[in-house]
Amino acid sequence: MPKIVTLPGDGIGPEVTAAAVAVLREVAPDVTIEEHAIGGGAYEAHGEPFPAATRDALKDADAVLLGTVGGAHDSPWNKLPRPLRPESGLLSLRKALGCYANLRPVRVQPGLEHLSPLKPELARGVDILIVRELLGGIYFDGDRKIEGDTAYNTMRYTTPEVERVADMAFWAAEQRKGRVTSVDKANVLEVSELWRRDVQALRDRKYRGVHLNHEYVDSVAMLIVSDPGRYDVIVTENLFGDILSDLAAVIPGSLGLMPSASLGDGPGLFEPIHGSAPDIAGKGIANPAAAIMSVGMLLRHGLSRSDAANAVDRAVALALRAHPTRDLGGTADTQTFTRAVLDAMETPA
Ligand code: ATP
Ligand code: MG
Repeated sequence: MPKIVTLPGDGIGPEVTAAAVAVLREVAPDVTIEEHAIGGGAYEAHGEPFPAATRDALKDADAVLLGTVGGAHDSPWNKLPRPLRPESGLLSLRKALGCYANLRPVRVQPGLEHLSPLKPELARGVDILIVRELLGGIYFDGDRKIEGDTAYNTMRYTTPEVERVADMAFWAAEQRKGRVTSVDKANVLEVSELWRRDVQALRDRKYRGVHLNHEYVDSVAMLIVSDPGRYDVIVTENLFGDILSDLAAVIPGSLGLMPSASLGDGPGLFEPIHGSAPDIAGKGIANPAAAIMSVGMLLRHGLSRSDAANAVDRAVALALRAHPTRDLGGTADTQTFTRAVLDAMETPA
């Protein structure tokens, strides 16, 4: 029996996680669900944002479903010493799980094209999966310094680091349209030369059925908004992926539509990309779609249950059309939307 650890967290986290758990229970009644504390609420209850009980619960977990952490900008939590702040709990969690790949689907839902900042004819049918390397590159390498009027950071990758994230991208592509675009800056960076060589070699060795092309990051930044239909799976290193994934996140038109998965060798972490939204917390109006779609990713990538994942994705798409929430210009509250998803799962495809 798979064990799922849920970490509802702060702000709208508990509301959207409750919705996600209701869907998870419906679609995977055999899983064990264990709830634990993280973030500001964990600090209030246990004196630390990532308590020992939470850390221990991860040991035999198959996947982690996270809500959101953190308070408003003027929250007293932000005046605590840094290690006690809610965000530190999140960093400790990410570190404990050691996930090296971040997956973000960017999908324009049918019927919601009008929410996209792109023209409807460009937005229609957009369905991209961005796979970002998460533990290496310029953010993490030890070779860094600021001294007087000189400073440097280092972007470094090794072949095993490139291969493990590329492998994830190819594997995902096999279940999609079978196309991977690897993004680099190989015209000027040696680290990108290695990246390109290793991604290509892995494809030639293990994934001959997947179509691979290589593009420069500056070019992708233009094309992802001017011709998003050209992409299926995009795989890239940490810094490029950080920027491209936030750029692409505006395409669907609401933060409430963006799930994510972080995967490594241990349990995966599944969470909506939006924040704790303190302005609407506790009002019962948060859009739980991103959290529910994160359950879809948990089923697909964490438990390898793609039929169940497809059922969730389909039900969310139907509910979004029939009962859009306020952030989408509709009137549905959290409960109404969640009910619509549950109902849609009961109606045959
Ligand atoms: P961060 O928490 O990353 O520092 P932030 O606090 O600005 O950033 P969010 O908490 O995501 O970002 O909120 C940004 C805006 O989007 C807020 O007005 C919030 O109410 C709205 N929002 C975010 N998530 C949702 C959601 N699931 N449903 C409805 N509105 C949302
Ligand atoms: Mg926030």
